[in-house]
Amino acid sequence: MSLLELRNVTVRFGGLVAVNDVSFNVEEGEVFALVGPNGAGKSTVFNLISRFYTPASGDILFEGKSILGTAPHDIPDLGIARTFQNIELFEHSSVLQNLLVGRHTHCRSSFLSDMLFTPFVRDQERHHREAVEHVIEFLDLQPYREKLIAGLPYGVRKVVEMGRALAIQPKLLLLDEPASGLSVEETQDVAFWVEDIKKVMGITVLMVEHDMHLVSSVSDRVLALADGKMLAIGTPKEVQSDPAVIEAYIGA
Ligand code: ADP
Ligand code: MG
Repeated sequence: MSLLELRNVTVRFGGLVAVNDVSFNVEEGEVFALVGPNGAGKSTVFNLISRFYTPASGDILFEGKSILGTAPHDIPDLGIARTFQNIELFEHSSVLQNLLVGRHTHCRSSFLSDMLFTPFVRDQERHHREAVEHVIEFLDLQPYREKLIAGLPYGVRKVVEMGRALAIQPKLLLLDEPASGLSVEETQDVAFWVEDIKKVMGITVLMVEHDMHLVSSVSDRVLALADGKMLAIGTPKEVQSDPAVIEAYIGA
């Protein structure tokens, strides 16, 4: 059984077919990349898996079960976390607070039990802290721990955005353009982290990324999309040498 499976998924926005009969599987433990020119439908696929969008047809399965009946706010509970192409953090809160909020909204405990502060809640609280501290350490964010997001360089914010998703300890991590706007050096760091997320944390990664160098260095498999359609799927090498892919990129 695959961790994630899209079966003949189609999404329409009015007359536009943003995702056109797309099928693919993401296996546990792999890094899977979605590539393609602007408007190919990559972010729409992420929004489908996050359940922000509902397909016109097709099915999406996570651990063998359809998630089409799951509400967006329950998706993290299944073990699916995501980052956004445009970073979505609380600007006037610290790195630590942002990571804790990410965890808390995921593990909703009742307000009343928070007030009563039962041993169970205390235990949960400690567990949240530990998970968050672990991510901060993992991503080398200690120097920024108490700093407000607003004052941080863009490259660090991108890492915090990744940390916010990792803090919920997902089975599947969706990264939407983790290297966009980053320098060559920062992109290299992202590559190291993606490798470690897979190898050390054991988390499966599905990413959308423009930087083909990053894609080929970290991905096990790649799916190329153009105008919502599947062009090619395979190893980075296979996909990059596929004539339909080359044409879509040159034509774009
Ligand atoms: P990519 O991430 O590959 O650049 P998107 O998935 O963002 O592409 O967009 C695919 C197509 O769907 C584009 O033509 C885009 O304009 C359109 N689209 C995306 N989201 C919406 C929406 N919420 N409403 C209408 N059109 C949309
Ligand atoms: Mg996009």
